[in-house]
Amino acid sequence: MQIITSPKEFQSLCWSWRAQGVTSAFVPTMGYLHQGHLSLLEWGRSNAQKLAASIFVNPTQFGPGEDLSRYPRDAEGDAAKARDAGVDVLFMPEPAAMYPSGFATSVSVSGLTGGLCGRSRPGHFDGVAVVVTKLLMLSMPTTAVFGQKDWQQLAVIRRMVADLDIPVAIEGRPILREDDGLALSSRNVYLTPEERAQAPEIHKGLLLAREMAADGERSPRKVLAAVADHYRAKLPGASVDYIECVHPETIQPVGDVAGPALLAVAVKFSGARLIDNMLLH
Ligand code: AMP
Repeated sequence: MQIITSPKEFQSLCWSWRAQGVTSAFVPTMGYLHQGHLSLLEWGRSNAQKLAASIFVNPTQFGPGEDLSRYPRDAEGDAAKARDAGVDVLFMPEPAAMYPSGFATSVSVSGLTGGLCGRSRPGHFDGVAVVVTKLLMLSMPTTAVFGQKDWQQLAVIRRMVADLDIPVAIEGRPILREDDGLALSSRNVYLTPEERAQAPEIHKGLLLAREMAADGERSPRKVLAAVADHYRAKLPGASVDYIECVHPETIQPVGDVAGPALLAVAVKFSGARLIDNMLLH
C-alpha cells in the first residue's frame, strides 16, 4: 500500500488509473477506522480494480467549540487496517496542503442542508461539500463510497455530484452496529462507561418508531413523541439535539410516515454528540 500526502501526487496516480480504463473505488474518512469504515473498504475492494482511501480530519466541517482538536486519531493503526483491507493508496494530507493560504472557494448545497445536522451545526455541510468536491476532483474514482450512518451527508453529496456533473458514481452502504445496536462511530470513544451502557437506547428508540409505522401509525407527530418519551426515560444523562421524520432524499419533514420516511436523531452526551437514523419501512 502506498501512502501519499501530496494532493498533486495522489491526483496523478488516481487519474492515471482512469486514463488506463482501470475501475477504482474511493473511500473518504476522518480516520480512527472501525468496522463501519472497513465495510466501505470491503465494498470497494470487491467492486473495483483499484481501491483508494483518505484520512483527513477536515477542519472546515467543524464549528467553533466542536471537537476538532480532540478528534481521535491513530495514523499508524489506521494505515495497518487500511493495508489489511487491501487499500492500494492511502491519502493522508495535512490541512495546509488541502487549504493553502489564499484558499477562497466555498461549495454550498441548499435545501437539504437546512434541517437536522445542518440546523445544529451551521456551516458543517459547506465544509463537507468543499472537501468532498476536492477529494473527488483529486481521486476521480469510478465510485465513491459513503455510509448511510451520515444519511444527510450522503443525500447532500448525491445532490452535489448530480448538480455539478461530477462523473463519479455514489454508493451508500448500510450502518454497521455493535451487537447491542449502537451505531459504530469514531466518537463512541468519548462516551463514559455509564453513557456507553445507555447509548444502545438510541437505536432502540428507532426500532420503536419502525414498529409503530409497521403497525399502521401514520402520524409523524405521534412517532416522534414516542421516541422522545423513550429517550427521556432511557437516556437520563443525555440531551436530545433533534428527532425528526424527513423524506430520505429531500431531507424535508414528512406529513405522513406511510410513504418514504427517514427517522433521524442526534443525541448529546457529556463528551460526544451521536447521530443515528432508520428508514421507517
Ligand atoms: P467518518 O470517518 O466518520 O467521517 O466516516 C467516514 C465514512 O464512513 C462516512 O461515509 C460514514 O458515513 C461512514 N461510516 C461511519 N460510521 C459508519 C457505520 N457505523 N457504518 C457504516 N458506515 C459508517
